[in-house]
Amino acid sequence: MNREDTHIDADDEAAEPDEPAEPTDQQTTDDEASESTDRLDSVQEADDDTTPMDSVDLSATDSVDVSATDPPETPATDSTDTPATDLTGSSVADASPTDTPSTVDLDEVVLDDTAGDSKGLFDDLLSGEPIFENKEVLRPSYTPHELPHRTDQINQMATILVSALRGETPSNILIYGKTGTGKTASAKFVSQELESTSQKYDVPCEVEYINCEVTDTQYRVLAQLANKFIEKNHQVIDDELDSLRSLRSAARDDPGRLDDTDFADLDAVDDRISELERDRSDMETVPMTGWPTDRVYSTFFEAVDYNERVVVIMLDEIDKLVEKSGDDTLYNLSRMNSELDNSRISIMGISNDLKFTDFLDPRVKSSLGEEEIVFPPYDANQLRDILQHRADIAFKTDALTEDVIPLCAAFAAQEHGDARRALDLLRTAGELAERSQADTVEETHVRQAQDKIELDRVVEVVRTLPTQSKIVLFSIILLEKNGVHNINTGEVFNIYKRLCEEIDADILTQRRVTDLISELDMLGIVNAVVVSKGRYGRTKEISLSVPIDETEAVLLSDSRLGNIEDAQPFVQARFDN
Ligand code: ADP
Ligand code: MG
Repeated sequence: MNREDTHIDADDEAAEPDEPAEPTDQQTTDDEASESTDRLDSVQEADDDTTPMDSVDLSATDSVDVSATDPPETPATDSTDTPATDLTGSSVADASPTDTPSTVDLDEVVLDDTAGDSKGLFDDLLSGEPIFENKEVLRPSYTPHELPHRTDQINQMATILVSALRGETPSNILIYGKTGTGKTASAKFVSQELESTSQKYDVPCEVEYINCEVTDTQYRVLAQLANKFIEKNHQVIDDELDSLRSLRSAARDDPGRLDDTDFADLDAVDDRISELERDRSDMETVPMTGWPTDRVYSTFFEAVDYNERVVVIMLDEIDKLVEKSGDDTLYNLSRMNSELDNSRISIMGISNDLKFTDFLDPRVKSSLGEEEIVFPPYDANQLRDILQHRADIAFKTDALTEDVIPLCAAFAAQEHGDARRALDLLRTAGELAERSQADTVEETHVRQAQDKIELDRVVEVVRTLPTQSKIVLFSIILLEKNGVHNINTGEVFNIYKRLCEEIDADILTQRRVTDLISELDMLGIVNAVVVSKGRYGRTKEISLSVPIDETEAVLLSDSRLGNIEDAQPFVQARFDN
């Protein structure tokens, strides 16, 4: 069975190796730890004048033992990818004056002092982590317990969904907002609350969360729902069977046990048991592929209608589902209520794309959008609050200098108020500080993090552009590289045509190329401003908004564009036109 919901944060960035946890058996006391920092400070003050004599003094007596017991080989590690600890294992006495003093890790000496001789490769790595307390808290997969500045939206959802707890069908809801505005986090929060309240009051209300970016076809959505409900039904049937079987054996000895039940006699109990057993085996789980869609649909239908309940189906990233496979799923789901006997379903769609309903069948559109809730972008102050909440848990005390959070918030506010970006920035800044062996995260780390994330984003966006857009972008790059400013659409189109001929690609109309330029503009790759040319009408002036060399390199890594050996003649030709 397809259990996407167990790892719903598929929009996580690529997994990085997790940081090792703090050693639980670390035997240094606080006093020893602070003593070691004091010593480290004095080493750093010593700077280039550090002599072997100084070092021996500073490192006390143990460092000599360390070098004696440790193999002298340096483990091969990439220093930029490891936390700020000294892997060399060499004693302080070995440090040459050219070594940076910060590589002298005195924590290690103290750790070794109490831990005896059995020090391995990882002890060193575990010993010094001045920055993070719990980095997981900054990852998108972490669900915060508090969502500052989303009270209104959460209350609106709750007000609509509370009908489910009264056994009524809540209106369908459509949630809109740009990425990182807290839609998923809020929806999950509300669904947890809804389910826990329904358990408290023992009302049959269930929430199913589906991330349509992962589960992106009608077959898969319906199969996942069907299997979910079959599993739940099995659970309910098994519970009932258990109690019926014990009732049966109790009633065999004492028929009076049936008095307070719906069963007239033991035969009735047996009948009910066989009925349930039959139901159970009739429920066939849907395979990942292979069934006709209507069979999947009816399997889901029967499974959900097996019991009385109100079901809220959350379709996160619903725009991705519609984009990939049309609106059939939504059409089918939204008309189910008129046919269901025991259960009711309500749909909550969550979309990053404000205009996605334009592509929907009008019936689906009106049914889905009974209620609409908008998640506006966060402003810089709101982002500060959000970051501060998370940073308190994520970082060691005093690990952040005071400008860090405001700067992360300001950068992310420019990035359409994206809380995900803000958290990414903060985490990346922390990682960069850690790698540079700094004791605190500083403003410069945030700026470096901003550059790194921006470049990563550009590379990813450019890499995944359709070929036609890549050719258009490449045309703009060629023009810029040849010193053309205020590029207009006609100029782009001329180069574009020649490039298409060269690599044997279809040539789109100039109008389509104009659309592709607008798309690149929306992606933030180019900047296209409409300028008025007085009585000559209006034209677009296009310029690149991303680093030219990196972008070109990504384009040329595409096998089709990579075939263009010398693009210079195409640009030259522009001047001949
Ligand atoms: P969306 O679904 O709108 O793209 P998410 O709900 O995934 O955004 O939020 C992106 C990240 O920002 C997540 O890590 C989430 O925990 C965090 N986040 C968003 N809004 C808040 C908030 N109000 N308080 C705390 N964290 C938030
Ligand atoms: Mg989301």
